Amino acid sequence: MSAKYGQAEALDTWHSNTALYKGAHSPTFAKVLPLMSMPPAKRVLLKLSGEVLMGDQPFGIDPAFVAELAKEVRDARDSGLEICLVIGGGNIFRGMAGAAQGMDRAQADYMGMLATVMNALAMQNALEQIGVHTRVQSAVQMDQVCEPVIRRRAERHLEKGRVVIFAAGVGSPYFTTDSGAALRAAEMNCDALLKGTSVDGIYDDDPKKNADAKRFDTVSYDRVLADNLKVMDASAVALCRDNDIPIVVFSIREKGNLARVLAGEGVQTIVRKEA
Ligand code: UDP
Repeated sequence: MSAKYGQAEALDTWHSNTALYKGAHSPTFAKVLPLMSMPPAKRVLLKLSGEVLMGDQPFGIDPAFVAELAKEVRDARDSGLEICLVIGGGNIFRGMAGAAQGMDRAQADYMGMLATVMNALAMQNALEQIGVHTRVQSAVQMDQVCEPVIRRRAERHLEKGRVVIFAAGVGSPYFTTDSGAALRAAEMNCDALLKGTSVDGIYDDDPKKNADAKRFDTVSYDRVLADNLKVMDASAVALCRDNDIPIVVFSIREKGNLARVLAGEGVQTIVRKEA
């Protein structure tokens, strides 16, 4: 935690222990960025919660803000990384909210999954408008608008430099897109799961309610689970832990932050085995 690991130390650890390397596709970008004790790596999964697509609106999709996000994704892709994207649906509909108002939970969750498909299509549109080739793969089959999830096909898209947007989470009710992100990160052999949210990391208490809340620079999966730290749901954290996928939590609301985090220069919390 921050008292034990200063910012400089955390960055140092990030650099020396990690193996995210840029330049796999780009001949101009041969810089190796070390990332955790993993083999050299070039693929990440970026999870964006639905609410970041709202921009400053109270609900829905702000096309101007989605366009800004798309540029960040393009820049990351242009640096040589293979990018898988998972986008939540909380800006439109959450199953739990529907259930709280008396809806059948599973039915409400399917509505939530459809919301994630809408967000995926919005992001696909924004990316394609700036020349980034993409494919959306949905865990709920929807032949007219996107592909089904087919891992080998997704591999091929990534090899061709396309961004693959995985929609509809795991395709089952009672799950979230965090679990979907962890699952796709594992099956696509991603080297890190980057969670872009509205806050700049994980705190030991709610920073909105407690001014003394401290942000962790690094924290272990086990501590996140034991202390029930608000980052991702437990099944997602456990899946990452069991597959040794570091989770990097950072604020996507600040312009250029994704690039900074990928360069090891951003403010973030890294969840990993040893903190
Ligand atoms: N959902 C689901 N199964 C999944 C993924 C999502 O049932 O595998 C539903 C669930 O109702 C959830 C909604 O889709 O509330 C939107 O996803 P999520 O809450 O994860 O979005 P985020 O909070 O990331 O915006």
